[in-house]
Amino acid sequence: MKNISVESTTPIYTLSTTSTLAGIPAHSIRQYIDKGLIIPFRKESNRNLFSQVDILRLKYVNKLLAEDGLNIAGIRSLLAMIPCWAIRKCSAEAREQCQAFQSNTFPCWEASEKGISCKNANCRECEVYRIVEKYPDVKSFLKTIIN
Ligand code: SF4
Repeated sequence: MKNISVESTTPIYTLSTTSTLAGIPAHSIRQYIDKGLIIPFRKESNRNLFSQVDILRLKYVNKLLAEDGLNIAGIRSLLAMIPCWAIRKCSAEAREQCQAFQSNTFPCWEASEKGISCKNANCRECEVYRIVEKYPDVKSFLKTIIN
């Protein structure tokens, strides 16, 4: 998922169009949203919109399910391993308060109690959430931060 242009992050597609473009049934996309694998852009009317980047993310999730043998719980655990506290340089105190730092079973953006550096953050725009847009898998990213 490399070389994604800035423009392609603009949310313009409805669920129905996204389903067609991604080749993924709308009910599966709803399930991925419910399970926190994707964060759609939510309009004031509460309708979800998706960007080209979101479509690539949906395809990545589908690949993990269809080709890599993971289930949704496995993908959540995989995303939970991203060391968000190191990327966002959270203090020891912030880590103590953060449910994401403690959990192995859900991605940090699913945490109900977040540390001070994430409390008011827009996770959809966060570099942690967007790691899978820049690296083909989580391990490729980890190799860039751990020698
Ligand atoms: S802002 Fe959201 S996605 Fe980013 S590290 Fe914090 S909880 Fe995770």
